Amino acid sequence: MSAVVEAIRNEVGADRVADDAEMLARHAADWTGWSGGLPLAVVRPRSVADVAAVMALCHAHGQPVAVQGGRTGLCGGAATQAGEIALSLERLKGVEAIDGTSMTVLAGTTVAEAQSAAHAVGAELGIDFGARGTAAVGGAISTNAGGLHVIETGMTRAQVLGLEVVLADGRVLSELTTMVKVNSGFDLKQLFIGSEGALGVVTRAVLALRPLRQGLATAALALTDPEEALTALEAARRTFGPDLSSFEAMWPDYVTTMSARTGFAFPFADAPLALILEARDATDAGATARMEAFLEASAEAGWLADAVVAGSLAQARSLWQLRDEGPAAYSTVFAGTIPFDISVPARDLTTAATRMGAAVRAIAAARDEAGLHPMTYGHIGDQNLHFVVGCDAKPTAAEKAAIEEKVYGVVAELGGAVSAEHGIGQLKKPYLALSRGPLAIELMKTLKATLDPKNILNPGRVF
Ligand SMILES: Cc1cc2nc3c(=O)[nH]c(=O)nc-3n(C[C@H](O)[C@H](O)[C@H](O)COP(=O)(O)OP(=O)(O)OC[C@H]3O[C@@H](n4cnc5c(N)ncnc54)[C@H](O)[C@@H]3O)c2cc1C
Repeated sequence: MSAVVEAIRNEVGADRVADDAEMLARHAADWTGWSGGLPLAVVRPRSVADVAAVMALCHAHGQPVAVQGGRTGLCGGAATQAGEIALSLERLKGVEAIDGTSMTVLAGTTVAEAQSAAHAVGAELGIDFGARGTAAVGGAISTNAGGLHVIETGMTRAQVLGLEVVLADGRVLSELTTMVKVNSGFDLKQLFIGSEGALGVVTRAVLALRPLRQGLATAALALTDPEEALTALEAARRTFGPDLSSFEAMWPDYVTTMSARTGFAFPFADAPLALILEARDATDAGATARMEAFLEASAEAGWLADAVVAGSLAQARSLWQLRDEGPAAYSTVFAGTIPFDISVPARDLTTAATRMGAAVRAIAAARDEAGLHPMTYGHIGDQNLHFVVGCDAKPTAAEKAAIEEKVYGVVAELGGAVSAEHGIGQLKKPYLALSRGPLAIELMKTLKATLDPKNILNPGRVF
């Protein structure tokens, strides 16, 4: 038993600390399955005071800590290095205050739990993505998560009114305001949103809520040509304005591979590009009428080949299933995946998809390798593509590196970002400099050294 683990046990109670083999293994990796080594112990605080006490002790002992929410991250940020303490916030959960305009929530509350609490008061939370049932609010804030409705709501950053953070030395910065306008000095919460746990441990947040709008129409579209994606986006924006709630795309490689492997049905398997659109209105009937008029005009304009509008909530869920639940099924339908989460300027989206797919197919052909399946889908309303190579055999490090080099090469050529919404973590560090300049990285390091001088909080993440 290490001295620091013993000190934590004495300070916050033995029931908050686990070091049995099963718990250590469970908390060593995030959703990618990657780990840098087993943690020394898993600490699961029940209160903010516990978190503060744990961080004060770790600071005093120079003990590195890996902060964990739901461990659904896709870049190894929450995965541990050997000898780190896994600080899991999974027990720090609950909605403490809520009305129609905001909620105060503890960081370990899952996104789905926060969404349900909002619905119960006739409101909506502007954070939603496929991992909602497991990902925590603190994780979403620390990664500035995007998701399925960013085109309407903005990213997680846009939902955060106030934040409470435990600093690396255990001090608690509590700025839990419910007010929208606070220009009284620096807006410090912005430092912690999206900084992947490297600057502080998010323990509480005040999240803005919006009124629950009843009317929603969901449609699946087949375009005549992927190059028409931007025409479709511009037309949808013109028609629906702020009522456009989702604009998601799936290329045929994703639709055919994933529907064959998961059994999730989708109406347009062969479409050059398939879209899922959601738009709102005061009532379902009003939203559906608007959607149908939009689709009729789009067919006349020539870029829409076919479309179907959901006639019920069950049909809407079925149209979404392949896009929403497909990614969660990767680990059951492939032996491994090599995932990318990139942004490129809107005009280059189809070029990027074509070039990345071609690069992987060339690697596969050169190796006579039939078990690599490049697939493209994403939040194209936000210029964000997910490009995933499904592998029938676990990819070797060399195979992964060869594919990463090609794909990130395409991203760099097009002036894109190597991470659009998942972050950098430990796995994308080698590529950060493709998207960010030396001064930007130097300033990040300066902030890190100021807020965490002993480099104990998520060390080695981001840079
Ligand atoms: C099926 C699936 C679909 C997904 N879809 C999307 C999507 O559409 N959009 C998107 O953006 N992401 C998506 N993700 C990625 C992931 O769900 C998000 O990054 C999410 O925000 C991570 O939350 P988490 O609680 O699981 O965080 P974790 O994985 O536990 O941690 C992620 C990072 O945040 C840090 N962290 C966690 N909690 C805290 C805290 N309280 N204080 C400080 N640092 C903390 C960790 O140290 C780590 O660096 C998806 C993942 C899966 C598996």
